[in-house]
Amino acid sequence: MSQVLVGWCAGRIPDPVGRLRFLRAAAPAIEAQTDRRGLRLSYLLPPLLLLLPISLLLLRNSQATVAAIPTPRPPLVMPEKGPVEVWLVEQRDGSETYSNGLRIETSEAVSNHARAYRAFPAGGGAAVSRTQPAGIVFHTTESLQAPFEARQNRTLTRIGESLLEYVRRKRAYHYLIDRFGRVYRVVKEEDAANHAGHSVWADDQWLYLNLNESFLGISFEAETQSGDTESRLSAAQLRSGAMLVEMLRNRYGIRGSNCVTHGQVSVNPSNMLAGYHVDWASSFPFQSMGLMDNYAEPLPAVWAFGFEADKAFLHDAGPRLGASASAAEQSLAEAAHRAGLSPNTYRKMLRKQYRSRLSELNHTLTEDSE
Ligand SMILES: [Zn+2]
Repeated sequence: MSQVLVGWCAGRIPDPVGRLRFLRAAAPAIEAQTDRRGLRLSYLLPPLLLLLPISLLLLRNSQATVAAIPTPRPPLVMPEKGPVEVWLVEQRDGSETYSNGLRIETSEAVSNHARAYRAFPAGGGAAVSRTQPAGIVFHTTESLQAPFEARQNRTLTRIGESLLEYVRRKRAYHYLIDRFGRVYRVVKEEDAANHAGHSVWADDQWLYLNLNESFLGISFEAETQSGDTESRLSAAQLRSGAMLVEMLRNRYGIRGSNCVTHGQVSVNPSNMLAGYHVDWASSFPFQSMGLMDNYAEPLPAVWAFGFEADKAFLHDAGPRLGASASAAEQSLAEAAHRAGLSPNTYRKMLRKQYRSRLSELNHTLTEDSE
């Protein structure tokens, strides 16, 4: 009888967190009755009946604040530098030159669909629609690498050209930086590119899902090995990468903490594991790009979305991203404690929110294409 009543009351609480709290609050009283011999539930039923409507009222009133689990970003470990002012100096057929020395080859940039995405407030509430990029995801092309020496010029050039043709056809990135440090615009900045698939990131105010739409993609013509601790980029690639990051951060007001690698953002929703793609999982030269060491920050896939970092991910990620995943687990446990929930229950709630946000995005995408 009592469980039916509690279940009925719980069913009337639309918010899952509120419902869970209510059930947990009601549970000890009922368990106590079944444990103690001789004390019948009927003794407790009248006071329980009196209390339930009050509890229900309180929970309903607090529903606005628990409609979504707030997912506050753990404080930044590294200090963040602001963007540097960079302006367009000259625009000619086929190239752009910028005040920081950046030169972009633009002649064969291709269009894709216009960028449009939703960002979700970290504190809960309705998503907002945006068209400006919020961050940058760094990639490697994982393509054939000829020895980087003068007598290989012809081979290096041939490989670079066919790579460029391939990534254009696939609308794979916004920018490609070849072995000689030449910067090619692949997909126009105002359009989305197919670079990040299922991916997540968060800053202190917003949660981002599926970064093809919300983040720009920069790929270096390079190949990484899991466990690399140093990047294999040429000096020219490092210089060009830094200038490109500087220009894009200034143009769109992108925060350094939102300039991240594919290995940090990639996720697999089918098994809820982090790190489906692991390019730059361990050796991205943040410092050479004028950025804070984002590997030192707790991994949002874990603390904001409830993904797990399994052994395979930790192997590919290496110690830096591995520490980031552990720090994120710690943050998740602390947030669960503050909410009065077990880490396991809290993670389930995060996952549920992730799925509902994902379906909201997919729904929007379907609506747009109709
Ligand atoms: Zn990638």
